[in-house]
Amino acid sequence: CAHIKVGIVGYGNLGKGVVSAINQCPDIDLVGIFTRRSPESIQIQESKAKVIHISQAAEYSNEIDVMILCGGSATDLPHQGPEFAQMFNTVDSYDTHAKIPEYFKSVDEAAQRSGKISIISVGWDPGLFSINRLMAEAILPNGENYTFWGKGVSQGHSDAVRRIEGVEDAVQYTVPIEDAVEKVRSGENPELSTAQKHLRICYVVVKEGYNKLEIEEKIKTMPNYFAEYDTEVNFISSEELKQYHSRLPHGGFVIRGGTTGIDSKQVIEFSLNLDSNPEFTSSVLVAYARAAYRLNKEGQTGAKSVFDIAPAYLSPKSAEDLRKGLL
Ligand code: NDP
Repeated sequence: CAHIKVGIVGYGNLGKGVVSAINQCPDIDLVGIFTRRSPESIQIQESKAKVIHISQAAEYSNEIDVMILCGGSATDLPHQGPEFAQMFNTVDSYDTHAKIPEYFKSVDEAAQRSGKISIISVGWDPGLFSINRLMAEAILPNGENYTFWGKGVSQGHSDAVRRIEGVEDAVQYTVPIEDAVEKVRSGENPELSTAQKHLRICYVVVKEGYNKLEIEEKIKTMPNYFAEYDTEVNFISSEELKQYHSRLPHGGFVIRGGTTGIDSKQVIEFSLNLDSNPEFTSSVLVAYARAAYRLNKEGQTGAKSVFDIAPAYLSPKSAEDLRKGLL
């Protein structure tokens, strides 16, 4: 059958990850990468795809089946989402949880008008974790959901440490507290705040002439970011930071403990352990691009979330082959 022709909007961590993910999919071709920067300034690794200025995207509306939007959630997607839904089927990883309903509405209006489909907030959280929370809750109505994140780099918390005067560079890991995870796994359903579930570990490079103890105190008492958490601060050299802390690992667990019958404990768990958060998120985006293409071919339009997409649409295999191999 015909290959699915895909474009990428935005060449950051996710954009690069989408290039590698497409290389593992024989049914998908990459047509081009669209950027706001000067196309000549961007070197693409792992692909011969063209780099094109974003202002020319409309010219490709007949050549591209699905645009994968790889912009940031804070300032890029709120306008790129609805703009591109006017011209293309789209998939994105919008992750500002509190604003998802508002974002859905603006993308939905654009996609309804253009007759395209847009699958929003695809990735692992929101994304695969959301699906697992939903399934566990539907199956075990009498129970409690728990989400643990990490061990992983939190970009927001790393930035907060970097903004402290005297800090040259820093990386912050969010780490699930093993004891809390074990309690949840045992089906005890304890009451736990986010701070009781996670600790924060910082690796910090200090500029010359600054006092480490004072910096440590500033980090540990920073409201909203660290004050309510158990926080560990480690001082290291910039070489060590580069060597050991430059990847973007992440992951976590979604666990639901519930009861059925009189007192049968039932525990559902889904976990991810990721060397590269962006490469994994991009792989999820590419699988959903396949779904967007097929669903639109069937006549579906408007915005959708991962809740609306049946799993068979993600697979390159036919429904018949899936029944044979996986059921
Ligand atoms: P980046 O900051 O790496 O990239 C965002 C945009 O910034 C790019 O599309 C690119 O646009 C621009 N950009 C990238 N590098 C440069 C550069 N060197 N100079 C100037 N501009 C640059 O973000 P990520 O790819 O890491 O993440 C994108 C979003 O994905 C995040 O905001 C997050 O919300 C979401 N995400 C969601 C997950 C989920 O589970 N749902 C998991 C992980 C991330 P352009 O090419 O046009 O300049």
